[in-house]
Amino acid sequence: MADTYLDLVNTPLPGRIAKALGLPRPSVLRRYSPGETLALDPVLVAGAGAGADALADVLLGWDIEVRRHVLPGEKLSAAVVVLDRAASPADLAAPMLELGQAVRLLVPGGRVIGLLRSSADTTNPAEAAARQGIDGAIRSVAHELRNGATANGIVLRGDATTTDATTLGALRFLLSGRSAYVDGQFIEVTSLPAASAADLAAADTAAGEGVPDQPLTGKTAVVTGAARGIGAKIAEVLARDGARVIVVDVPAAGEQLARVANSVSGTALQLDITAPDAAARILDHAAQRYGGVDIVVHNAGITRDKLLANMDASRWDSVIAVNIASQLRMNEQLLASPVFSGTGRIISLASTSGIAGNRGQSNYAASKAGVIGMVRAQAAAFDGGGRTINAVAPGFIETDMTAKIPPLTRQVARRLSSLQQGGLPVDVAETVAFLASDAAAGINGQVLRVCGQNLVGA
Ligand code: NAD
Repeated sequence: MADTYLDLVNTPLPGRIAKALGLPRPSVLRRYSPGETLALDPVLVAGAGAGADALADVLLGWDIEVRRHVLPGEKLSAAVVVLDRAASPADLAAPMLELGQAVRLLVPGGRVIGLLRSSADTTNPAEAAARQGIDGAIRSVAHELRNGATANGIVLRGDATTTDATTLGALRFLLSGRSAYVDGQFIEVTSLPAASAADLAAADTAAGEGVPDQPLTGKTAVVTGAARGIGAKIAEVLARDGARVIVVDVPAAGEQLARVANSVSGTALQLDITAPDAAARILDHAAQRYGGVDIVVHNAGITRDKLLANMDASRWDSVIAVNIASQLRMNEQLLASPVFSGTGRIISLASTSGIAGNRGQSNYAASKAGVIGMVRAQAAAFDGGGRTINAVAPGFIETDMTAKIPPLTRQVARRLSSLQQGGLPVDVAETVAFLASDAAAGINGQVLRVCGQNLVGA
């Protein structure tokens, strides 16, 4: 479904009229295409200390022009503010005020990225106040930015450093066009065992100033609900990034599914994910065709909206069965099978409705909040073992699902985010692909919203 208002305000006269009337002026977002360079203009690395110095050196090694202070009038691709040493709220003033100067100089589609430690990792009240304060400040900056610019944070958990391979993986993702619709979010990273960290560091050096090309080469991925919408786009992006893809959908969508499979040079598997033998059939197919499976994307999902007062058992039960019960059953079988890789990735589609709730969606919100609960519990069991499980929570995404929303409500829903527009399926797909990559090996149990900082539940 095209966003004609967005197209219109990005032409000269309507754009000027919208400005004069104070109407929303969503920008065309800077989205990734292979060969993209991370930063065409200089990047500011603000903040003091060894962590900031080391990160500035890494960016220089990526052939990025780095500034340690704002130069008046000089445009910036990004402002990275390193606050890993903040010990009390008083420590925030200097770097945040410098960031304030930098945001005036950001190019359209620019990036603000904060690096901080987690308030959950300290018992010192002043230190916790400083760390949580950074969270609030960065979220606010995200609300203030315009011209398609975003602000996000990377939270260093435990002994993770500013230059750990997983920190750099998250930084590349946030600097790149892959994260175009990720705004006002925080990605928690942990450090990795030395051997995998060394492999990742080598891959990072090889990637230089770019976004790594085909980071999923050699991996086999399964995407459920891939006949259309977000799932079809996830299949396409995973294939673009080098993965072999098995696409799964119900037999009724068989023709569309075959088209998607052909377009990604993958294979199609028609099945209903609520069937008790769904996981067994996926594992059999993967073992026979590809010798195993590395990435499972639980994308299939349905809505059966009704106010709870009018809800019937069939609506409630079908949503729970497809959106969460099937995933719980499939994961149990995947994890018990040697066909699923020891460094496997599970990525599950949640929703902002599962975070904030939504009128008429008590069944859907229960299922999507259930996904978040499942991911967190499973991640604790995976901890340190090489596998990861994460959730991606889309906000308003332009698909067949949201095209059913009445036109006026749809217009309002689109504008209710800091980026003042709905996301595209590719925005969700890029985040899924990032979480599926080796660069995300230190990210586990996270719920990453792809919602343009939707005001609902923000
Ligand atoms: P969609 O309705 O366009 O596509 C969903 C696909 O899942 C369809 O091809 C359908 O046939 C398939 N499917 C449904 N039940 C199935 C079953 N039992 N077995 C196998 N396949 C099944 O939906 P979409 O908008 O592309 O959404 C994809 C995912 O993203 C869903 O989990 C949805 O809840 C989530 N999501 C979407 C949005 C949005 O704005 N579109 C927002 C938040 C979350």
